[in-house]
Amino acid sequence: MPVDAAKALLCWYVVDKRRLPWRAEAGEIADPYRVWLSEVMLQQTTVAAVKPYFETFTGRWPTIGALAAAKDAEVMAAWAGLGYYARARNLLACARVVAEEHGGVFPDNEEALRKLQGIGAYTAAAIAAIAFGRRAVVVDGNVERVIARLHALKQPLPQARPRIRALVDAMTPEEGAGDFAQAMMDLGATICTPRNPACGLCPVRNWCRAFAEGAPETYPVKPPKAARPHREGIAYWLEHAGQVLLVRRPAKGLLGGMLAFPEAPPADAAWEAAGSVEHVFTHFSLTMTLCFARTERPPDGFWHPVGTIAEAGLPTLFAKLAARGLAWREKGDASDDVRENALLV
Ligand code: SF4
Repeated sequence: MPVDAAKALLCWYVVDKRRLPWRAEAGEIADPYRVWLSEVMLQQTTVAAVKPYFETFTGRWPTIGALAAAKDAEVMAAWAGLGYYARARNLLACARVVAEEHGGVFPDNEEALRKLQGIGAYTAAAIAAIAFGRRAVVVDGNVERVIARLHALKQPLPQARPRIRALVDAMTPEEGAGDFAQAMMDLGATICTPRNPACGLCPVRNWCRAFAEGAPETYPVKPPKAARPHREGIAYWLEHAGQVLLVRRPAKGLLGGMLAFPEAPPADAAWEAAGSVEHVFTHFSLTMTLCFARTERPPDGFWHPVGTIAEAGLPTLFAKLAARGLAWREKGDASDDVRENALLV
């Protein structure tokens, strides 16, 4: 992209940039804590989904020191529903390292930032550019799409990534790399959108090869999609005296460290099938059946009141199962007959 196009993009950004809670307005100094927190939350997650979580986190933990001092369970519960839970564990680990080893001040360059937990190449570049004004090459999914279209790249993703990175590097200005990165992201998020790019409103259409060709939505070229595998699972709702048994999942692995229903029978009981829920993870889809039982001999464990299960901080899959369990209870309390056919024993 010629220098003129980069200038046109920056002029557009000054007027039309998105107003986002983590973004510094003109004349304000960016807060590295807020930039870092937003960038971690935005990994694989939409702006609309992140906004309420960002407000909650910065309200409860307004500084890196406050977050570093928070209890793990509180942070995991506050993150519940945002997905990709390894991010929450990394967030805490990173906050504690910054608080304890860097005096509560984020390192101001990519190399040092990358040594922190949960900060990969993209996030390090974004923080260095946006929070510290460093010249860094920032490439997210939005930027990839814009570049693939501007240059009408025929090579599919992910193979085209090195070329895209080189093209972004070539156009990133020495001064104002943070604004440039955010302008590219905003262009991709609001105008150069995946399905129906609004080329008529685009500040760089005069330089865009895909626009000139007439079919910009066909870029970036994608490789054929592999089918997403499907899995089945069972979760167990064991109830005693108005409380339901929860477990904390192992720290590593899927939904690591989050509260959940057990996935093996926690007691001998007359288990009934209470229906199932569907959930889609990045790498597979899942049908999870909920088995329901009450017991008079409760095993040791973490028992949570049924009435407040919706506030327990369950990740989305288990929140769906909790809703299923509540619906099943109500139906069962109204009429035990309807459940007879579902008795599993
Ligand atoms: Fe995207 Fe259209 Fe602008 Fe090209 S002209 S960058 S395809 S919005």
